[in-house]
Amino acid sequence: MKIKSSEFIISAVKREQYPDDNLPEIAFVGRSNVGKSSIINSLTNRRGLAKVSQTPGKTRLINFFLLNKDFYLVDLPGYGFAKTAKTNKDKWSGFISKYLSGSDNLGLVCQLIDIRHKPLDSDIESYHWLLDCGLQVQVILTKADKLSKNAAMAQKALFKRELGLDDSRIMTYSVTQNTMRSELIGRIMTALEGHY
Ligand code: GDP
Repeated sequence: MKIKSSEFIISAVKREQYPDDNLPEIAFVGRSNVGKSSIINSLTNRRGLAKVSQTPGKTRLINFFLLNKDFYLVDLPGYGFAKTAKTNKDKWSGFISKYLSGSDNLGLVCQLIDIRHKPLDSDIESYHWLLDCGLQVQVILTKADKLSKNAAMAQKALFKRELGLDDSRIMTYSVTQNTMRSELIGRIMTALEGHY
């Protein structure tokens, strides 16, 4: 699949605002600053499409991007907002979980985890929660360029063990190297075809 077109459609906080054309959706979740916007820009080859921010927790809305006029990439607010008040944090996680557990069009959830971190409770709990919702999950270890090849492999093995994943469900990614871009597009395609 070639990404021929990409456009920002809407930032939403509730169901009435989501696109209502029933096109399949691929969602991106993860802690703030993990690289969600960067991976969307990398996939679409458009640097400014999703804002890349240096401040964790800045993206507080559910952003829908239409690709090839055929499916959506959905950028969700990060979980684990260190710098925000608890009440806001609760509200955000409320509408994120509502979207994730309630969307009929969600074909795949890409869960992004910073490759340099050890498995954190919030990542592990989120992963199992997504599975419990009956969702297909692709784990993506981001910023792979920050580690040596060996260290990146070791982290991949650790997460694979910790989350009980088989090889097809976990991959590394680097937006600076773009090495896994076609592989991720392939996985998205498989999910869109319903064979994931
Ligand atoms: P978000 O909050 O999850 O949307 O994260 P961003 O996409 O805004 O990225 C947070 C920071 O990590 C930015 O400074 C990015 O430039 C940086 N970043 C994201 N992906 C990569 C990567 O693959 N390699 C490197 N070296 N930096 C990255």
